[in-house]
Amino acid sequence: MARDCSVGRALLLEAVYTVEWGRVFLSTAVLHYAAAAVTDRGRKRPSNEDAFGFSVEHGIYVVCDGMGGAAAGEIASSLAVDEVLNLFAEQAGKAAITLQAAAEKAVHAANAAIHSRAQRNAQLSGMGTTLVGLVTDEQRALVVNVGDSRCYRLREGKLEQLTLDHSLVEEQVRLGRMTRSEATRSPLRNVITRALGTQRNVTADFFEIEARPGDLYLLCSDGLTRELANNKIEMLLGDEIPLDEICLSLTKAANKAGGHDNITCVLVKVEE
Ligand code: CA
Repeated sequence: MARDCSVGRALLLEAVYTVEWGRVFLSTAVLHYAAAAVTDRGRKRPSNEDAFGFSVEHGIYVVCDGMGGAAAGEIASSLAVDEVLNLFAEQAGKAAITLQAAAEKAVHAANAAIHSRAQRNAQLSGMGTTLVGLVTDEQRALVVNVGDSRCYRLREGKLEQLTLDHSLVEEQVRLGRMTRSEATRSPLRNVITRALGTQRNVTADFFEIEARPGDLYLLCSDGLTRELANNKIEMLLGDEIPLDEICLSLTKAANKAGGHDNITCVLVKVEE
């Protein structure tokens, strides 16, 4: 009889502990994400070869900058965005795989879709696209990168670039063979060393990060970063205005600085 009582009490204590743990978990770890995006043709290009897409529900945000001539570039970037978003939608609710496995699967599906389309149509031969993406699952997050589109994070007012460009000049700068100002002026500054769709296989960079309330992530094409210095981007991201207005102020500033290329920004805000 005594033993039954103690068992009963032990179970009760365990239940209280679980509820308490649940409450603590809810108050410290459930993060919400909000996003806004804009793409702008810029002032010099006849068409817009950038594409973006996101799903807050599925925790995927992506920017792609296509290449290979107007029609081909547009096809490559929008194919990549569609493939990635579709794959994340399909995986939702299925057996959990790691963020990196999900992202790798999406990158390879997008690469294959572009590559096979280009193989079937000579006019699209050689088309490709950059891809920068943010994948989120509560506070765990992953940045994915192929090419020279970028991901930045504004945390406590400080801007930090989370990706490394796969571009000829940036790789020369990292090797100490070129200065940053030489890179900016180089006629080879448009050459990227990795892209989706141009080869049968592609290797993406993955950066695991921990998202915190207050973080603001920016995914963008080089039409923004060629025009605006990091301190200007940092200043505009710090404005206490709605996300869609920040997107517009970024594209407006890039156009004012010349608008030489298509400009795309996706902003992702982490909230408690
Ligand atoms: Ca571009």
